[in-house]
Amino acid sequence: MRILVTGGAGFLGSHLIDRLMEQGHEVVCLDNYFTGCKRNILKWIGNPYFEMIRHDITEPIRLEVDQIYHLACPASPIHYQYNPVKTIKTNVMGTLNMLGLAKRVKARFFLASTSEVYGDPDVHPQVEEYRGNVNPIGMRACYDEGKRVAETLAFDYHHQSGVDIRVARIFNTYGPRMQQNDGRVVSNLIVQALRGIPLTVYGDGQQTRSFCYVSDLIEGIMRLMNNEEHTGPVNLGNPDEYTILQLAQAVQTAIDPNVEIQFEPLPQDDPRRRQPDITKARTWLGWEPTVPLEDGLQLTIEDFQERLAAE
Ligand code: NAD
Ligand code: UDP
Repeated sequence: MRILVTGGAGFLGSHLIDRLMEQGHEVVCLDNYFTGCKRNILKWIGNPYFEMIRHDITEPIRLEVDQIYHLACPASPIHYQYNPVKTIKTNVMGTLNMLGLAKRVKARFFLASTSEVYGDPDVHPQVEEYRGNVNPIGMRACYDEGKRVAETLAFDYHHQSGVDIRVARIFNTYGPRMQQNDGRVVSNLIVQALRGIPLTVYGDGQQTRSFCYVSDLIEGIMRLMNNEEHTGPVNLGNPDEYTILQLAQAVQTAIDPNVEIQFEPLPQDDPRRRQPDITKARTWLGWEPTVPLEDGLQLTIEDFQERLAAE
């Protein structure tokens, strides 16, 4: 198949491209390099089955493809809050453009939505039926509300124009190739511990997240895309829930037990807890995560060690 991956030079997109290329597909990667980088896809440049297009999805584009994995959007709070209006444009105009493309060429369309559509959840663990608790005018709204509109657009194109859609709500995912300056908690803590500087824990560290290793997540995305029955939305994430303090302690244990923990102010609207209910992913896709946090952290640490050593 000829497959388009938007945001393909980013963290998740580049891992997805590796899998698609290894399966023998022809892959078109579209990215504006806002948070992605060429290094992530370097090994495919020059391969006749791979094409890289530097393009901003807020502008329309004409391509002929069979499937579209739509991942383009900054995912880390510091990056999506850097230019909130651009984040909304990417989610709304960008998703509109990609759905328009899917409609024109009759391609199956996958949307990388997020657990953030649940906001600061009142229902725990989060099931797909839960409609969320998002502050529409807060710091995270450009991303949360942007993704909620992206989901609405996908379902409206599906109902109105018959576009074949798949929607995944992705929970916190980590692994090799996260940027050092990504700003998300796993990369921050690992880079800090490797540099021997204090680990920044926001608030009292009692807020929770559930961390999924990247290879598990990519498997889930591909299973949903190629499932013939279910459009979603489907939660994809690891149900093992940790406090941020526990995560910091796991990083200490893995890298340097003597590195300090430094408490910093909790950002506005930071969700108190997050854990996916993955019953649907289990029953519809036969999917569940296989990599425990300890193993995933080790693989991620090795990747950061290599990159920091090469600096
Ligand atoms: P990332 O920031 O590493 O990758 C996003 C990619 O999109 C980057 O390569 C960036 O340059 C590109 N991009 C951003 N705006 C663009 C635009 N206007 N035009 C073209 N390209 C653009 O993030 P990621 O972690 O790989 O996330 C990928 C997708 O998965 C995002 O849509 C994100 O919302 C979603 N998601 C990720 C997580 C996670 O934990 N990683 C969780 C939930 C949802
Ligand atoms: N966090 C932290 N230290 C950091 C970065 C983040 O304690 O250096 C916290 C953050 O406040 C949040 C959690 O870790 O409670 C996850 O943050 P991240 O930005 O990774 O993802 P999100 O909040 O979008 O789930």
